[in-house]
Amino acid sequence: MRRPFVGGNWKMNTDQAGAAELTRSVVEGIAGDGCEVAIFPPFPYLLTVGSILRERSSTLMLGAQDAYHQGNGAFTGEVSLDMLKDCGVSAVLIGHSERRHVIGETDDLIALKTRAIIEAEMHAVLCIGETLEQREAGETDAVNERQLKAALSEINAEQTNHLTVAYEPVWAIGTGKTATPADAQDAHAKVRAVLVGLFGDDAAASIRIQYGGSVKPANAAELFAQPDIDGGLIGGASLKAADFAAIVKATG
Ligand code: PEP
Repeated sequence: MRRPFVGGNWKMNTDQAGAAELTRSVVEGIAGDGCEVAIFPPFPYLLTVGSILRERSSTLMLGAQDAYHQGNGAFTGEVSLDMLKDCGVSAVLIGHSERRHVIGETDDLIALKTRAIIEAEMHAVLCIGETLEQREAGETDAVNERQLKAALSEINAEQTNHLTVAYEPVWAIGTGKTATPADAQDAHAKVRAVLVGLFGDDAAASIRIQYGGSVKPANAAELFAQPDIDGGLIGGASLKAADFAAIVKATG
């Protein structure tokens, strides 16, 4: 009932020519796949990537890696949702662990951004997940619950068709370590239970929950076969078109 959804987070990688080349290869590689797919290039390359997607009549969603919650105005260095829409962006990553832990974004800021994205009727991909220290202290489910409740407190059930949750254990991102399929499924089932509490059974059953953290062609199928894992958010492997296409295929 939930259509699988895979996102490619390019982070602060590629140059303009490389972004164009990667887009063309991804479009060719995933043609005809039943999975929903989004790519999240760096801001400066959004227009280049978007124009290739249009040229090729691709159904791939164009995503941004972050956005500011305020309307256009005196916010030096920030990028508004109106600007992103104007560039053809329809999905926005929010609360990625690198923004939480490297840049220092707080739950409060992430809540403002999540609400603004959803109210703008763009698709919010809300990233949550525990650090290694929190996992070792047995706090995984409590951290996920806190991050979800903080970000989604002002969202109602009708708006959740604009929401995907990405569970990304911080210790698994870019490290080559992946949660076992059973551990990931357990965390996803608990995340869905929190969503039931926030939005009720029907809405919670429709929200896609992606897994992220060192997903590769070799481990994707087993992760995606779990009942509450509805695709993935892919970092490193999304920079190699063939690997990304193989991961997308693994949802089928
Ligand atoms: C990510 O950046 O969201 C991510 C999951 O990265 P990686 O796949 O490289 O671990």
